[in-house]
Amino acid sequence: MNRTESNAFDNFCMQIENVAQFVAPEERKYLELLKHPQRIYQFSLPVVMDDGSLKIFSGYRVQHNDIRGPTKGGIRFHPQVDLDIVKALAAWMSMKTAVLNLPYGGAKGGIRVNPKQLSARELEILSRRYASAIAKFIGPEVDIPAPDVNTNPKIMAWMTDTYSMLAGKTVTAAFTGKPLEFGGSHGRTEATARGLVLCTEYACKKLGKTLNNSTCAIQGYGNAGVYSAKYFSEAGAKIIALSDSRGGIVNKSGLDWKAVYDHKQKSDERSVVGFSGAREITNEELVELDVDILVPAALENVITSENARRVPAGIIPEAANGPVTPEADEILDKNGKLVIPDILANAGGVAVSYYEWVQNRNGDHWSVESVDKKLQRWMQAAFNSVWSLKEEYEVNMRSAADILAVRRIVDAYRVRGIWP
Ligand code: NAD
Repeated sequence: MNRTESNAFDNFCMQIENVAQFVAPEERKYLELLKHPQRIYQFSLPVVMDDGSLKIFSGYRVQHNDIRGPTKGGIRFHPQVDLDIVKALAAWMSMKTAVLNLPYGGAKGGIRVNPKQLSARELEILSRRYASAIAKFIGPEVDIPAPDVNTNPKIMAWMTDTYSMLAGKTVTAAFTGKPLEFGGSHGRTEATARGLVLCTEYACKKLGKTLNNSTCAIQGYGNAGVYSAKYFSEAGAKIIALSDSRGGIVNKSGLDWKAVYDHKQKSDERSVVGFSGAREITNEELVELDVDILVPAALENVITSENARRVPAGIIPEAANGPVTPEADEILDKNGKLVIPDILANAGGVAVSYYEWVQNRNGDHWSVESVDKKLQRWMQAAFNSVWSLKEEYEVNMRSAADILAVRRIVDAYRVRGIWP
């Protein structure tokens, strides 16, 4: 196939081709379907700005595959959002929900916008306009959105409210990642990081290592990054570097995750940069720091064929989706690095989103302890399934997770058939 390393959807298609040999020959035809998202929606979203001018934003929702159940996936607000990236993120969601064995398919949405340049009013209006645009095409049994980069529980509350107003009734199960006061689940905010740190712990055990006293660098200090830093710290790891879109900081003696978080909240720039007692570094330098664990928790394509040889970290759990390109994967593999792939490592978020949806549909409310217990059990089961495929076929964890996911998707096609 013709592809460029920086095209995330091309990278997804290549991952599918790489594991085709592990699917029975008569069922490989179904894999072709994964290279073609089922439904693609594109919207022009007009907003009257505070100064009276009119701005039109581009919005997207891609429902990649629903053979295993309603589609599920976040909504991203970012200046680099385009159809290709939303297609890739939607496709990875189909794989992720299959790895966790959730009764879901995959979707993703987004708006091409820098939300930091919007006022609070503009952000709310744009969020509600987007929710009204997708309202006809989503729903608790169709497609259930959630937060992603630059979206959060507050935005999910606005969107659920908009959807409910249009439906003429309150439909909490239409979105997940909502605030606790409005149908949210305990543990959802922390879930992605919780799952990631659990997976890293399981991997350490397999490799005869421990998190205690290990060193860790995290790129991206938002939802996934902050809570990863918290849980790694609680497990005894030393966080030596952190970054966000404005740059990074390093201190070999260790950074206090909470102090850096408080600094970020208070600083004018809303950044880790400027934290006292640390040296400033670039995001590129952070990836090349000599640490035990490197957590990419920002965007896709940060470890590529260009810099993969210079990554010293031994374990790379992917909090972000698609941060390592297929070319980089090969290099890291050869250098003996263990990449814990996104569709397993960051799947804790969608697992607890699923618990939230189940609670909403049953009018139920689970305790934080029962959510966490369930999450631990599910992450351990998914990790074990991936690890045994890795051993059985002598492949890396990415291929093992891809094999598990495509087999589950293909199984659903086999029993359902292609209609009519
Ligand atoms: P977020 O908006 O809360 O945080 C993103 C962080 O990345 C911010 O600190 C931002 O400054 C930083 N960032 C943005 N561009 C950057 C760049 N070019 N270089 C370095 N840092 C940059 O988003 P999040 O929810 O934490 O998501 C982060 C990643 O994790 C995304 O890839 C997302 O798809 C993935 N993810 C998130 C969840 C979830 O539940 N939040 C679940 C699964 C996967």
